[in-house]
Amino acid sequence: MKRIGVLTSGGDSPGMNAAIRAVVRKAIYHDLEVYGIKNGYQGLMDGNIEKMTLGSVGDIIHRGGTILFSARSEEFKTDEGQFRAIEQLNKHNIDGLVVIGGDGSFQGAKKLTEKGFPCIGVPGTIDNDIAGTDYTIGFDTSLNTIIDAVDKVRDTATSHERTYIIEVMGRDAGDLALWAGLAVGAESILIPEEKEEFSSIVQRLKNGHDRGKKHSIILLAEGVGSGFEFGKRIEEVAELETRVTVLGHIQRGGSPTGQDRVLASRLGARAIELLIDNQGGRMVGIQKNVLVDYTFDEVFNVEHTIDKGMYKLSKELSI
Ligand code: ATP
Repeated sequence: MKRIGVLTSGGDSPGMNAAIRAVVRKAIYHDLEVYGIKNGYQGLMDGNIEKMTLGSVGDIIHRGGTILFSARSEEFKTDEGQFRAIEQLNKHNIDGLVVIGGDGSFQGAKKLTEKGFPCIGVPGTIDNDIAGTDYTIGFDTSLNTIIDAVDKVRDTATSHERTYIIEVMGRDAGDLALWAGLAVGAESILIPEEKEEFSSIVQRLKNGHDRGKKHSIILLAEGVGSGFEFGKRIEEVAELETRVTVLGHIQRGGSPTGQDRVLASRLGARAIELLIDNQGGRMVGIQKNVLVDYTFDEVFNVEHTIDKGMYKLSKELSI
């Protein structure tokens, strides 16, 4: 292993820059050359590849987004696209690739590894929806952004005695809604993994209102359905004044938290150790604060699940 490449792919997440920095610095520390690939797999196929130095990753550890940019590419899903990518890697004499992204990006990294090009995956996505790691890079920052936003909404909810529905990201995974809901003391948390009867949600709201609560907060993951439609139903059935806030892309931006910077630094550096060890086709992760790694198949064959104990606790604390 003499030269390695690094790219970011899929949705960006805060902490990706800290991961790029760790990859570049750790590789140079071990006398490897590093090439940055811009615009994810699309840039790889197009040969958008540049040498990186220690200075290329200076002053980025605290920045959101990704200095390598990210993209989604349909063409890369085809065999021809993947061979075109490998051609570019060979042309630049690159021996191994670090892919920072979500599970879709790892599908691509798996395909490249199967075609003979070793790749290591670093989980970077706010959704925390990847098996084999307790946390993904960006989750903690996003969680804190949501908490900050809901705390602000709560002030106006109290002043006007309203029920607020906050729609957060999470198409398939309810982690953001669950953790944020627990952290802000939400009355209800609606996530794709757990079903709750509409009538029991309404009953809980009414109970709170009857004992004099000034506001109610409901956290809803986008995968459950539209916050606006849900809000309309609540207003009609519970007869409580309701407002809906869809947090949207503010959840993806911002300076990464200490937790995400440290996680990104540890995982990025570990990816280089695996490549030096000639171990392609694996994802690095963290479990119980210990760094781990699994083959991409091991990651894909296990479904990410929420912590059911936490969901139960959220119910117990919102009586
Ligand atoms: P996020 O979780 O933030 O959405 P992701 O990595 O899952 O991130 P995707 O859009 O699913 O985001 O995947 C990123 C890119 O990875 C795709 O645009 C495509 O180029 C590549 N990719 C996804 N699935 C495959 C696949 N089955 N085979 C090859 N490449 C794939």
